[in-house]
Amino acid sequence: MDLQSILLSGINGRRPLIIAGPCSAETEEQVIITARGLASKGIKIFRAGIWKPRTKPGGFEGVGMEGLIWLNRVKKETGMYVTTEVANHNHVVEAVEHDIDILWIGARTSANPFAVQEIANALKLVGFEGPVLIKNPVNPDLELWIGAIERIYNAGVRKIGVIHRGFSSYDKKLYRNLPQWHIPIELKRRIPNLPLIVDPSHIGGKRELIASLSQQAMDLNCDGLIIEAHCNPDEAWSDKDQQITPDVLSYILNLLVIRDTKQ
Ligand code: PEP
Ligand code: MN
Repeated sequence: MDLQSILLSGINGRRPLIIAGPCSAETEEQVIITARGLASKGIKIFRAGIWKPRTKPGGFEGVGMEGLIWLNRVKKETGMYVTTEVANHNHVVEAVEHDIDILWIGARTSANPFAVQEIANALKLVGFEGPVLIKNPVNPDLELWIGAIERIYNAGVRKIGVIHRGFSSYDKKLYRNLPQWHIPIELKRRIPNLPLIVDPSHIGGKRELIASLSQQAMDLNCDGLIIEAHCNPDEAWSDKDQQITPDVLSYILNLLVIRDTKQ
């Protein structure tokens, strides 16, 4: 099956599209062990951030370009497709040069039209036609999200998906980022053929919430899930409270009830 069919399988097929992998690529060993674990559970698309947008300076900001080589090794050894976050012109050029299959735009970047336009221009320059997955902006602004989609579309990219990762709020009692499901649902109503992938890891911020958020996504007819998975979550260098092992991921996915409402 080619990549576009996989991306669209969440819309036409009965199973959701699943993307999984660590928040960040940390070491070559961590990337390969996690990827092998996920591949053994049937996961077809591997995620890992190599340029990490951190809220405050001083934290781990990603391994950078070296990580692209590790992602390539994942492709060769497991046959999985790979995806990483791009936030500027150079990231796009490097990622495409290193054969990254899918690019995603993060929530802090999609809130900034200058940055999205820079990415769009770079995609056009290198002739990357997608898939590009666009996360919602951190703030609950549907028009800004749609604006980011339009900028990428206008650069000639036709394989576009969106990721719902929740919306920032001052009060973080239960969720790290509030789901505000009505916003992605309204987006789906306005642009029906856009694959909508839900990121329960960043919405919940805690591993205990991943199963229920994933089930809610399925109940709302979302097309896929992107879930952070790590070979040793408690030792993760970023987002450790929300990462799960490949075994736990597989357990959660097997418990999902997927109603056949799309035929
Ligand atoms: C991530 O996917 O690890 C990430 C940084 O996500 P977001 O842009 O949604 O905060
Ligand atoms: Mn993360």
